[in-house]
Amino acid sequence: MKIIEKVEAIKQQELKATENLETMYNTIEEKNDDINAFVEVDIERARKTAAEVDEKIKNNEKVGKLAGLVIGIKCNINVADYTISAASPTLKDYIGSYNATVINRIMAEDGVIVGLTNMDEFAAGSSTETSMYGPTNNPKAPGHIPGGSSGGSAAAIAADMCDITLGSDTGGSIRNPASHCGVMGFKPTYGMVSRQGLLDLAMSLDQIGAFGNDTSAIALMLDTIVGYDPCDCTTFKKPTTEFIDDINTTSLENTTVGVVNEFTEVTDDKINAVVNKQIDNMIDLGAEIKELSFNDVSLGLPTYYLINYVEFFSATRKYDGREYGERIEEVCGDEVARRLEIGSYISQKEFSGKYYNKAQKARSLIRNDFSELLNGVDVIAGPTVPKLPHKIGEEISTMDMYAYDVLTVLANITGIPASSMNAGDVDGIPVGLQLQAKPKDDHKILATMSALEN
Ligand code: GLN
Repeated sequence: MKIIEKVEAIKQQELKATENLETMYNTIEEKNDDINAFVEVDIERARKTAAEVDEKIKNNEKVGKLAGLVIGIKCNINVADYTISAASPTLKDYIGSYNATVINRIMAEDGVIVGLTNMDEFAAGSSTETSMYGPTNNPKAPGHIPGGSSGGSAAAIAADMCDITLGSDTGGSIRNPASHCGVMGFKPTYGMVSRQGLLDLAMSLDQIGAFGNDTSAIALMLDTIVGYDPCDCTTFKKPTTEFIDDINTTSLENTTVGVVNEFTEVTDDKINAVVNKQIDNMIDLGAEIKELSFNDVSLGLPTYYLINYVEFFSATRKYDGREYGERIEEVCGDEVARRLEIGSYISQKEFSGKYYNKAQKARSLIRNDFSELLNGVDVIAGPTVPKLPHKIGEEISTMDMYAYDVLTVLANITGIPASSMNAGDVDGIPVGLQLQAKPKDDHKILATMSALEN
């Protein structure tokens, strides 16, 4: 059953919100010891919300878009009275004292928040192995990483532990785990969704987005969280059309799909073979394919990581032990320590404009070249991640870890919308198809996903 059908069933009293919650909760109880997708669950609070939704429906009161759907939240987004640790010992005792804007919006639409999901420490990673809660297992490829940093949110969907989850994406953290776990993940245009209440990794790149098993789940969540927020000056007005209207798309006639040669070149052949099948499907659905060339692929990672280090260093100066518990440098893991050290060094050198300034110039260059690439096409289609996920605990170098992000960081550097949906598998391991479009063309991405899904 599609998520939109489930909401309708709840509204028609064919399925109770409380029943839906108990089914999901049973799955969490059954599988979470193995999967470790959820790091905190408050079932009593969720039961109360679900019962209120059923009561409203019984009394013929109007209920919201997410009525009775079970929602999981990445543990770097503030939910009052939950431990908002960002999976770091730095914040292990920090209890959310308010709801992020996105959380208030989910509650206003009658979503049932069941708990918080696992992630890499401060969202700095691609494997969910650096969490203080331990790694998350990949439900679709057991023993392999689920990707990261929002690995718990992707795994929770892949294991049917909830209907929709939220994640954050700074350089791929929604799309990468969506790809490895075989689910849908959507990173909206920068500024589409309020970041108020999200703990920053790198604020000029961070964006909150959604995971689900079908496009209706993504659409319902986007329709809930997208839009202007006076508390986040980077946000802009909601589009005039609803995302839910995109999900009945069945044809790609009048859609031009760009395929970038250099994206294919850096990707594993077996992954390319799977992705190409989806591109053939797009042709069958009426799409016109346009081959494109993009010369800045190798600039993406250095530009991204340099900006990330500096902005992360700056954002973490508040974790000095006075207000939030621990001093970050004293308790953090290796990857966070690396970023703080390099971020601090670059910040000190900044007066000479040596590194950060150059990264900003590279960012402008990439943005200009990418927007030229997007001129004349509706969406760009290609692989989400260039290689298959490693086994949990397998030692890989920092550079190899960063290399997972080569195809996803470009959308954050440029601020454009991007998604991942399952394209198939290589020896049972899911592989994602990434779709990217011009800023504010989020609708085109969702419509394309729908056409492929339908
Ligand atoms: N893997 C990337 C990083 O380590 C992206 C993380 C993210 O999107 N939050 O920074």
